[in-house]
Amino acid sequence: MEKRKPLLKREQIIKLQRLLDMMYKPSEIADEIGVNVYTIWRSYLPAGAPHDRDKSGNIWIHGPSFREWALTQAGLRKRKKHELQPDEAWCMKCNKPVKINNGKERPINKHTGLLQGKCALCGAKVNRLTANGSKEGKK
Ligand SMILES: [Zn+2]
Repeated sequence: MEKRKPLLKREQIIKLQRLLDMMYKPSEIADEIGVNVYTIWRSYLPAGAPHDRDKSGNIWIHGPSFREWALTQAGLRKRKKHELQPDEAWCMKCNKPVKINNGKERPINKHTGLLQGKCALCGAKVNRLTANGSKEGKK
């Protein structure tokens, strides 16, 4: 058995904090967390980093979604058995899936929308990506 190389180093984990609630290009994510953009393409995306592809083939990565994925990869966050329901989102404050209050969806591109609302438990802003067809995080 080969030893699995960690996808993210400690300094990158720390830099994840600076990711904003916005869509990033792979090169922008790479800049923010201090990795080579090829690491994004060759390691993170094939390993299942959440991303969306627009109709021109451009890859977009949602900051908080990427951070959640990266923390899970780093073993800092247990993967939840719970699958998000259509009316649920991950609340960063509660650190668990919550119902979305006053959810409003706006399109980001042709295939992707961003559903924003408030956490039903604590009232913090929550987001989730919505997509027609393929769903992120499928097992
Ligand atoms: Zn909450």
